[in-house]
Amino acid sequence: MTRKKLMAANWKMHKTPDQAREFVASFLPLISGHHRDEIVLCPSFISIPATIEALQGSRVDTGAQDVCWEQHGAFTGEVSPAMLRAAGCTHVIIGHSERRQFFGETDDSVNRKLRAVLPTGLKPIVCVGEVLEEREAGVTEDVLRRQCSLAFREISAGGAAPIVVAYEPVWAIGTGKTATPELAGEAHRLIRHQAAQAFGEDVANRMRILYGGSVKPGNAALLMSHQDIDGALVGGASLEPKSFAAIVNY
Ligand code: PEP
Repeated sequence: MTRKKLMAANWKMHKTPDQAREFVASFLPLISGHHRDEIVLCPSFISIPATIEALQGSRVDTGAQDVCWEQHGAFTGEVSPAMLRAAGCTHVIIGHSERRQFFGETDDSVNRKLRAVLPTGLKPIVCVGEVLEEREAGVTEDVLRRQCSLAFREISAGGAAPIVVAYEPVWAIGTGKTATPELAGEAHRLIRHQAAQAFGEDVANRMRILYGGSVKPGNAALLMSHQDIDGALVGGASLEPKSFAAIVNY
């Protein structure tokens, strides 16, 4: 089964609209020969329109970093899946570890957001991954099983096709410590097994599972050459056009 790789930039709370435009102006020429993978930039909400406008006519998509589980209503400060669609987003990150760690995101809210996003046609990138204490305690598999089974709850096999999962061991995010391809591959196989249990083998075999955690130009090729790694979610190294282009062109 060949799965088209997805290379996603998570800009976190960086880049004003002007800085997003500047990035795109430098980045697009660096990837002009690239036709292999799906590429998406995920700016902050405020920089989404500028990013979409700057990317017009290119093959690069725009995604959001979070979303509400409702389409409209009295939810001050939130942005709905329908609003992201209307703005021109194609992807959305759900359940990033920073949202879990700092903003009270739970397995239950991840599931609610995923169920709200799927009918809109946005492609969700659902983040899962263990913290260092969990890896050291030998419970990584239990954590991934729990995160996946709760995220996938009450989603039909028919509706699950757009789901992308990002395996992001939290100890590797922003730390410079990267999981080996073998270690990531093991986690990806477990995640695919959970997807098969929830949605059947066919959907699971087509599902893209990205790796995230200190992906850099120097380690992208090795990680991407592993048969179970279907792309990357990149934080720090996606902030500079040259380094994200080097990762995309691994
Ligand atoms: C992330 O935030 O999703 C991430 C993987 O960050 P970094 O690449 O900086 O580790």
